[in-house]
Amino acid sequence: MKRNILLNPGPATTTDTVKQAQVVPDICPREQEFVEIMKQIRKDLVKIVHGDEQDDTSVLFCGSGTISMDVCLNSLLPEEKKILIINNGAYSSRAVEICEYYGMPFINLEFPIDERPSLELIEQVLKENNDIALVYTTHNETGTGILNPVREIGALVHRYGAVFVVDTTSTYAMRPIDIKKDNIDFCMASAQKGLMAMTGVSFVIGNKSIIERSKDYPKRSYYCNLYLQYDYFEKHGEMHFTPPVQTVYAMRQAIAEYFAEGEQEKWKRHTRVYDALYSGLERLGFQNVIKKEWQAGLVAAVKYPDDPNWSFSAIHDFCYERGFTIYPGKINNTETFRLCALGAIDETDIEDFFEIFEEGLKQMGVSLPVYYQK
Ligand SMILES: *Cc1c(COP(=O)(O)O)cnc(C)c1O
Repeated sequence: MKRNILLNPGPATTTDTVKQAQVVPDICPREQEFVEIMKQIRKDLVKIVHGDEQDDTSVLFCGSGTISMDVCLNSLLPEEKKILIINNGAYSSRAVEICEYYGMPFINLEFPIDERPSLELIEQVLKENNDIALVYTTHNETGTGILNPVREIGALVHRYGAVFVVDTTSTYAMRPIDIKKDNIDFCMASAQKGLMAMTGVSFVIGNKSIIERSKDYPKRSYYCNLYLQYDYFEKHGEMHFTPPVQTVYAMRQAIAEYFAEGEQEKWKRHTRVYDALYSGLERLGFQNVIKKEWQAGLVAAVKYPDDPNWSFSAIHDFCYERGFTIYPGKINNTETFRLCALGAIDETDIEDFFEIFEEGLKQMGVSLPVYYQK
């Protein structure tokens, strides 16, 4: 099969073995054979973030990654309590929108998108609002590639007795996460990112007793209720409604490949890829939006150069026709594009990419290294 190198922020490049794992004999997902597959996947998903088999669980949903954000926010807020969103990017802003849609009380604690949130300010808000029961933030803000200090935030959240939910969609199964040490009560992801599987299944991982407690919280959604789905899994070993069957088979294969590669080795590979992206961009003179020491090491968000011959769509098309996908994005008023280190790719793919990329820039007449007015 033709191998495309996806440098967009997910879905990621997958292995052929994962693609092929979807081709299976037809099966009704209510069969015990399928239930066993789900059971193992649920355990493995907890293991990837070093959760405790007794205390923690994973709950799967049929949908893209946003469903996990929706589920955690709408299901884990007790009556007459408030959510605190620590917001320094597009994904936390999406969480704010979810709160608005459900009409849930929340505080939107905004920080500049190119800065890390201030722990002092977070603590101040927690101190002044003792009705905050749920605190939410994003681990790696995929729009900018900034890494938020979740361990430190989580320690504060727990000191004030709230539940800590982290959107780890763009770090899970890439950057090592230990939900206990990182003070995370719930994290989440979706199969098409770090796991390098297919779109269509997403999951929430976290503390069983908190889910059980949420049984009596206000029910704001039917399809996206965490307790309802958890309870059905516990009783019947499967999703309440039809799962994405073939996607689950691909996910099983991807998890096997994850453990075969190993947590540390996989992170080393992503780091290799990221370093190759970073140094290639630097060599061509491109500027990153986020300070190097604050980057999560998975997403490079790059400012468009000021060269009049630069055209994102032209360079995109040039690369795309040659098997490489790059991704545009606007950050505040700055035009940017992103190159991401997700997926089943390695350093040599990035070397191949830069050959094409540089050739494209030269054909367009962009002067190299690229320049910026300021
Ligand atoms: C990809 C991503 C999501 C989910 O986006 P979908 O388009 O619904 O898959 C959520 N949060 C973060 C941080 C992401 O990177």
